[in-house]
Amino acid sequence: MSAQGTRPRPPSVDLILAWPLMARLCAIHGRPVVLEAIRDRLDHWRQQPEPFDDAHFAVAVERSVLSTVAPSLRRVFNLTGTVLHTNLGRAPLPQEAIEAMVAVASGASSLEFDLEKGKRGDRDDHVEAWICRLTGAEAATVVNNNAAAVLLVLNSLARRKEVIVSRGELIEIGGAFRLPDIMARAGCKLHEVGTTNRTHPHDFENAVSARTGLLMKAHTSNYRIEGFTAEVAEADLAAIAHAHQIPLAVDLGSGSLLDMTALGLPAEPTVRETLEKGTDVVTFSGDKLLGGPQAGIIAGRADLISKIRKNPLKRALRCDKQTLAALEAVLRLYGNPDIVVERVPALRLLTRPEAVIRQTAETIAGPLAAWAGEEWQADVAPVKSQIGSGSLPLDLLSSAALRLTPAGGNRRQRSRQLKALSERLRRLPLPVIGRISEDALLLDCRCLEDSGAFLAQLEVEGSEP
Ligand SMILES: *Cc1c(COP(=O)(O)O)cnc(C)c1O
Repeated sequence: MSAQGTRPRPPSVDLILAWPLMARLCAIHGRPVVLEAIRDRLDHWRQQPEPFDDAHFAVAVERSVLSTVAPSLRRVFNLTGTVLHTNLGRAPLPQEAIEAMVAVASGASSLEFDLEKGKRGDRDDHVEAWICRLTGAEAATVVNNNAAAVLLVLNSLARRKEVIVSRGELIEIGGAFRLPDIMARAGCKLHEVGTTNRTHPHDFENAVSARTGLLMKAHTSNYRIEGFTAEVAEADLAAIAHAHQIPLAVDLGSGSLLDMTALGLPAEPTVRETLEKGTDVVTFSGDKLLGGPQAGIIAGRADLISKIRKNPLKRALRCDKQTLAALEAVLRLYGNPDIVVERVPALRLLTRPEAVIRQTAETIAGPLAAWAGEEWQADVAPVKSQIGSGSLPLDLLSSAALRLTPAGGNRRQRSRQLKALSERLRRLPLPVIGRISEDALLLDCRCLEDSGAFLAQLEVEGSEP
């Protein structure tokens, strides 16, 4: 008895396409997507023993279409406690930067056009003067991210030459950025000196030769070597480099423009002080502590920046107009020290007082507990936030979280409950990402500024049957 032989056959694809629901889906989402969903669901049906049911099939096609067209890159609530979370898009942009991006995205712009002279311009012109003003650099250029900035500096200044780096600074940053690998791809020969924990000026002195193209220092932002240690300061490296007419490049990673300690945050070298110590080129990210768009900024000596700009790789690594518009807007905010911390969300969130964060956690506690259901206990707990993006992972910021703990069950049941609750939070219209720690789900409220939007979507979900 063959089920295939006895069960009713489905209508042809053309007949299904003519159903009113399919016609509506085609009008909204386009025929190719609907056709793909119909074929996919038919294939699926052929592998099932059930008889064909029109209404059932139509619902399945609609669900498949909606899942195909649902936006994949979406806004979320970052309640992980890591402010500059690389997987969640790092720095949120200031309103001024968002408006600048929308303005240039909406039409033609002066991207490479000098409006004063009516001639061709350079896309770096929009940000270079600001970078120089804020860092004391002679010149600056910008590329897609800091990894690209490091690659471009190495390739422009030391191709087919040796680059001397301390063994204590051969860094790996999350996401496959490893200094030795970048160096090889840049066409440079890595010359390691010193030891993992101690490197001295004479290690560099002894390594310099006619083959040396660059001395390099990398800011070890995501780990710390403690105990019996020694590193060579920028000023000493600069003296050695300049005695041999070799430039010194420093990869700062985060590269702050402000004194972080004045904001009550852990110390982080500023771009200005790094240049003042004699560094010839500094590289740093646009979307770490700077709080701007993803970008890699190269600032330093005019002759070297000019050489870097002439490298054909610069063309391949350049930023788009939206990035430059956002970066210009963010740098302009740094021009006014009185407002920058308040207007740049990354700085505002990093310096948010614990009492304010706790208040936010208390505001959402009741509604969230009701939404989670009776099998959850909710309370506000003191926690530690991280800066993120490899910035000082060892230095933590006092914060407050809403803590959801399973009310009962054994260890395995509680773990399953925690996973299910995390999933429910991720399925909200504006997905909420927390972290699981010590048998509880923590929603660190440091980055929750819009608790209204957060609560509104709980009510919507709660009102569903
Ligand atoms: C983050 C970081 C990089 C990579 O920067 P991206 O902007 O993520 O490309 C390179 N070097 C250091 C020291 C960093 O901290």
